[in-house]
Amino acid sequence: MKTQAEIVVLGAGIAGLCAARVLHEAGKEVLVLARELGEASRVPDALLNPVRGKRGTVAPEAEEALEALWDFYPRFGAVRQGILRPVPQSDKPVWQQKLQGRRIPHLWLEEGLYLENAGWLETTPLLHRLAEGLNIQYASVERLESGVAWLEGGRRISGKVLVYAGGASGAHLVGLGGRFTPGSVLRTQQHFQQARSYGVYVAGHSLGGSYLPHQDRYAPHQTQPHEVEWLLAEAQKLLGYRPAFSASWAGVRYRLDSHYLKEIPGGFALTGFGSAAYFYAPLYAWRLLKRLTGQS
Ligand SMILES: Cc1cc2nc3c(=O)[nH]c(=O)nc-3n(C[C@H](O)[C@H](O)[C@H](O)COP(=O)(O)OP(=O)(O)OC[C@H]3O[C@@H](n4cnc5c(N)ncnc54)[C@H](O)[C@@H]3O)c2cc1C
Repeated sequence: MKTQAEIVVLGAGIAGLCAARVLHEAGKEVLVLARELGEASRVPDALLNPVRGKRGTVAPEAEEALEALWDFYPRFGAVRQGILRPVPQSDKPVWQQKLQGRRIPHLWLEEGLYLENAGWLETTPLLHRLAEGLNIQYASVERLESGVAWLEGGRRISGKVLVYAGGASGAHLVGLGGRFTPGSVLRTQQHFQQARSYGVYVAGHSLGGSYLPHQDRYAPHQTQPHEVEWLLAEAQKLLGYRPAFSASWAGVRYRLDSHYLKEIPGGFALTGFGSAAYFYAPLYAWRLLKRLTGQS
């Protein structure tokens, strides 16, 4: 078993796997350390959405993020194109204003805003495809010290550079602060080929959203009955009916306001994407490569 590598990536969620993949393809020697393949990244279907929330805020660097994700994900699996945002007519002028001057392809339809090169994807097959051929060691990391990861049992793994991509559950290892927001997804019997999002979202077999308050530390989450009721009530507004569901998934988002690539002792932290992790991960993986090769 290897005890050192040029680059050690802690975390095999979407952030860690995109980074490891990009670095590996650039010829770097990469070792990924993780308890398991993805954690919050196992949200069953993920939106790739540049226009956020009910206010229609255009995500910072949305154009660059869209370009990077379309260059990257289709090599590893299907990405479904388009998201419909059924914006109330009264909010349309404000949303139009926010889109002005931005290069976000869109159409205004009777039902609302259609984002043509936004989309969604099924996460689990993507995580497996990204992991193929990477050197991954499954182990629990207990602490990090300037480029060294100490594993359960006292073993140590060192990297010339250590990249923290351990998401919400590992955040205490780097102590960057941030917000932790629990949420749930119901697994619907109906398949939604066309993603729709306003308040909650439907895509694939998912009905997801989050209305629970932020917390200042990570705690594992389980779907609560009142969350199910909220999701179904919001789905009624979005679809006009309550979709039948067979199971639920629960997770915790981790958000660090727009500072997704930070220097830490011995390397970098690549984390804190909130509910835009799949949207930004390819762009930030490229940025990490540039930082490591001195191109920025
Ligand atoms: C209800 C809900 C809906 C969401 N919808 C979307 C969406 O539509 N689109 C979207 O992009 N995102 C969405 N998200 C957000 C997304 O689920 C996550 O925020 C994102 O995937 C996090 O990715 P990550 O790689 O940073 O972390 P994670 O996927 O959490 O991965 C962390 C990795 O680090 C490893 N790790 C952590 N600690 C340790 C340790 N001590 N030792 C060893 N390994 C460790 C884990 O094993 C795992 O491999 C949603 C979240 C929720 C809750």
